[in-house]
Amino acid sequence: KLYSAEAAMAVGDDAAKLPEATGEARAFRDLILAKLTYAVGKDPIVARDHDWLRAVSLALRDHIVDRWMATTRGVYRMGGKRVYYLSLEFLIGRLLKDGLNNLGLVATAREALASVGVDLDMIAEMEPDAALGNGGLGRLAACFMESMATVGIAAYGYGIRYENGLFRQNIVDGWQTESPENWLQNGNPWEFPRREVAYEVGFGGAVEATDGWDGSAVHSWKPAETVLAVAHDTPAVGWRGNRVNTLRLWSARSLDPISLDAFNAGDHIGALNDRTKVESISRVLYPADSTPAGQELRLRQEYFFTSSSLQDIVRRHLQQHRDIKTLPSKAAIQLNDTHPAIAVAELMRILIDIHGLNWADAFAITRETISYTNHTLLPEALETWPVPLIERLLPRHMQIIYAINARVLTEARESGASDAMIATVSIIDESHGRRVRMGNLAFVGSHKVNGVSALHSELMKETVFRDLNTLFPGRITNKTNGITPRRWLMTANPGLTTLLRETIGDAYLDDAEKLVALEPYARDSAFQEAFAAVKHANKARLAKVLQQTVGLRVDPSAMFDVQIKRIHEYKRQLLNILETIALYNAIRAHPERDWAPRVKIFAGKAAASYTAAKYVIKLINDVAKVVNSDPAVRNLLKVVFMPNYNVSLAEVIIPAADLSEQISTAGLEASGTGNMKFGLNGALTIGTLDGANVEMKEHVGNDNIFIFGLKAHEVEERKRQGRNPADAIAASPALAEVLDAVEGGVFSPTDRERHRGTVQSLRSSDWFFVTDDFDAYAAMQRNVDTLWATKPAWREKSILNVARMGWFSSDRTIREYADEIWGVQTTATE
Ligand code: PLP
Repeated sequence: KLYSAEAAMAVGDDAAKLPEATGEARAFRDLILAKLTYAVGKDPIVARDHDWLRAVSLALRDHIVDRWMATTRGVYRMGGKRVYYLSLEFLIGRLLKDGLNNLGLVATAREALASVGVDLDMIAEMEPDAALGNGGLGRLAACFMESMATVGIAAYGYGIRYENGLFRQNIVDGWQTESPENWLQNGNPWEFPRREVAYEVGFGGAVEATDGWDGSAVHSWKPAETVLAVAHDTPAVGWRGNRVNTLRLWSARSLDPISLDAFNAGDHIGALNDRTKVESISRVLYPADSTPAGQELRLRQEYFFTSSSLQDIVRRHLQQHRDIKTLPSKAAIQLNDTHPAIAVAELMRILIDIHGLNWADAFAITRETISYTNHTLLPEALETWPVPLIERLLPRHMQIIYAINARVLTEARESGASDAMIATVSIIDESHGRRVRMGNLAFVGSHKVNGVSALHSELMKETVFRDLNTLFPGRITNKTNGITPRRWLMTANPGLTTLLRETIGDAYLDDAEKLVALEPYARDSAFQEAFAAVKHANKARLAKVLQQTVGLRVDPSAMFDVQIKRIHEYKRQLLNILETIALYNAIRAHPERDWAPRVKIFAGKAAASYTAAKYVIKLINDVAKVVNSDPAVRNLLKVVFMPNYNVSLAEVIIPAADLSEQISTAGLEASGTGNMKFGLNGALTIGTLDGANVEMKEHVGNDNIFIFGLKAHEVEERKRQGRNPADAIAASPALAEVLDAVEGGVFSPTDRERHRGTVQSLRSSDWFFVTDDFDAYAAMQRNVDTLWATKPAWREKSILNVARMGWFSSDRTIREYADEIWGVQTTATE
């Protein structure tokens, strides 16, 4: 019997009862069966769902590998420039559906599996969600890998193969708890371990200087410890499988797996100590989002993957091109934030100490090769490391950093810089203990430095990099983030994808900006009906998940109002939940009014040590408990917190959203990419003029987005003038009532003190301007209600959002990087 045990129960001996696979599907079925038998080692009749998942993944991988080899061969033959994307995080998510979609094999795989009694959707759901990242920054890296393959760039992603990705979030009695995410427990069918691709990475020790042939000093670093970095490769498939690039993740291995002396002396655990210490480098992803972890282990992780990646890049370059001096014409290295910023010093070390280049040549090569993306202006999130720590772990790099700094400061002085300016452009921060500013190091070692939205790039020039921008004018550039429409439209929302194809044809699949062809249908009532039916089906699917995961029943015809992202004070989930309470109060006071029924959906993880954020999660759950059981609001308001937000959950929630909450304190969200995913799936945005919301407003049009609140410069101005949140609270009876209720324990009757701290910090400081924006936000929410009441008007705007979001495809972003930063060809420019 060549079918699953489930099917056997259903059909007995009668295989004829299963649908027959034909043509391509038949061949794919045979490949799946061969994988199941010879790679998984299972008979179909006893194979478990996981075995089928593995078999179909391996079958798909064969298709991918053929193209992968062809791509790699082509790159070597052409001898062109490669892009290297260095990122401490890749928030990949599941790969099966996305890979099938990009190779045009979804229907084939579905038919092939049905013929053996297996449901594709069911097994696809079992794939672990690879969460090797925290949020936007890591997900951007994953979207970029897909887009680089799509637009035809020869690219490698480099990162760390964490054994435990971002923690699993459980909600216990309304509180977040964390447990390890074990994505590798059933093996990883996508990766190829490359034991032979391994590099030694050193730490500690000392630097020896000897006289070179011309009398100059030659430096040689003798590390005290050495760790082995072993490569694991995962193919990254572009749209239509035209090109397959490589994501190379490093795993830390000990050179001496066991101390035999200790073992023989009876110390069986101590014999493994060194190995445990070394291998901890690639054990866990740091879960802190945006704040740099102060631990030495974090710096070790950064240097570990940066050094092994650079060694690999230089090895490949020399193997193919022989001459180290041609590196900038053959390699573009992009630093995703400052996590790999030590690359500037490491490349200098490789060029000078190992390849014998002089300083000027080495620095020119380094700067022409490297470029850096800044992701945040939050002062507490700008990475710095204590000088003594770098001196101890990376003594040669510290020397090089000092030498780079000396040249930068001399140049600044010669151009007339003041002492104050010297202090801000310096790579060494002297203000609280001596620390290395990784942002400044990355800036001076790069030929281009980019922000991730127009507003953010402008603010970079005015704030963190103001003086460096004066010293190096033109180096800062903007590259507004994007999202891959393959995952975030086609895979996540097949219903809408099909409707769009039926309406405007296939051209938009290859060029998302062709979605504008949808504009003429925005007012077409037949199209509106079909569009609404797709949305309703997506909402019904989410409603089912809600019932299964949190046991809450919701009505899919209510407005789904969604805020999903990391829980952070600047993202202001607190503003949302406080306004929800105000709405709750208003509904109870005026049940006779024509309220728009809403389901308020929240999801997101708080860093384990981030107490204020954890209290926000608890408050949302406390409010949910009260609201959801209050008969007075009937079905007009429901509040839900969905646990364990990750890429897979985002793929279910986003297509089902009517309203997207993008309400950060203006000036603090660098770009956002969640905002783009919602717009592309037809949700209307309520948001501040922050990050890429600004450009979304320009693209979708003022009438098709709900913008409210203080603008970035107004926030700054108020900060400068000094303000008292008590004034804003006194001016807003609704807010005052809400705060009194939360503070008095209305939502925490068993512990009335619980949310006092949250409210008191709003009353006394309110660093994130929640009180300032509350009334404007609440008023805008009522405009949302009004529009919701007129279905054709809402649908028209929703359709126009889909039609006008094509520009936010990461294909567009990547083409801009290719043209303006990397100097590489894309298929569009070849
Ligand atoms: N986390 C996950 C799982 C995501 O998919 C995304 C993007 O959609 C983000 C975080 C970033 O969200 P935002 O840009 O709204 O902060």
